[in-house]
Amino acid sequence: MAGMFRLFPVLFLLVSCSNSADMHETRFIMGTLVEFTVADADPELAENAIRQAAEEMQRIDDMFTIYRERDNSVKRFNRSRPGTSVRLDNEVARILSLALAIQQESNGAFNPALGRLNRLWGFSMEPLPSHPPSEDAIRASIPPAGCIRKDGNEWSRTSERCELDFGAIAKGYAIDRGIAVLRRAGIQHAIINAGGDIRVIGSHHGKPWRIGLRHPRSAGDVLGTIEVKGDVSIVTSGDYERFYIDRGRRYHHILDPESGHPAALSQSATVIAETATLADAWSTALFVLGPTGLKLLERRQMPALVVDRRGRLHVNGPMRAIFQPAS
Ligand code: ADP
Ligand code: MG
Repeated sequence: MAGMFRLFPVLFLLVSCSNSADMHETRFIMGTLVEFTVADADPELAENAIRQAAEEMQRIDDMFTIYRERDNSVKRFNRSRPGTSVRLDNEVARILSLALAIQQESNGAFNPALGRLNRLWGFSMEPLPSHPPSEDAIRASIPPAGCIRKDGNEWSRTSERCELDFGAIAKGYAIDRGIAVLRRAGIQHAIINAGGDIRVIGSHHGKPWRIGLRHPRSAGDVLGTIEVKGDVSIVTSGDYERFYIDRGRRYHHILDPESGHPAALSQSATVIAETATLADAWSTALFVLGPTGLKLLERRQMPALVVDRRGRLHVNGPMRAIFQPAS
């Protein structure tokens, strides 16, 4: 959700849908290129639907982002004096409740309170920094456990180190809202691809949509492909999206809430779920957990894979059934 351009905006997922009857539109939303693909629809209807979906996704970005000038309830929370109550927008409150549940279920790997730490590292700002912050500054920016409190419709924080950051989940939610708007407008077959976070509905002229998963160290190559029909969300989190190299070390934007440093166990993590919101949050959590997190997702029946820090591919049971590795 950072308000800036990504390094490889459209390359992490290569969506193969070259049929001329498909309709394509690209918009710049949430700091990334969002690709809309619609199949088997009247062009005028499709164009209108895509415009409405893009507006809805922009509305979500405005509501959740903390990295632009515009004020919102998330930023008000982040400025609030610890112990005082803040009213969050209903949608923000709903996504925050879900984020806190995923924080629990992922044993803390996913943490929606890393705003201060993320600002310190500077990964959501332009230009990217060239050196990591000091260990003291990192320690002083890690939020205390359980720092977000809910009291009826009001929310508060226990510490100034506790700042909301929906960077790992709001893009997924925006995609879900975009798909809802497309459907309401009468679209049955479509893909929304927001720089590697995607949701597909329907089919591609009766055939499955083919989704390629980007190789984390070779932008033009794919790890393999997944064929999906129906309503499916596929999200990848990678260390190649926003990073810099300092003295031979790679520093990237997915943080381990325990150490306060970029998570070191993965190069990329992909999760398939019922909604893009869930797939987005869990792909970030899985990236932090590394290969051992795959079982956790298997228990929740979510197909998932991880490329570990050495570049080795790990695939869980549900993913094995649908993933075709590149030969
Ligand atoms: P992207 O937004 O590039 O697709 P992610 O979905 O993995 O990637 O989200 C990364 C963003 O989420 C970071 O830029 C930051 O705002 C936030 N973030 C970083 N680490 C975590 C974490 N462990 N838990 C929750 N949010 C995180
Ligand atoms: Mg995510």
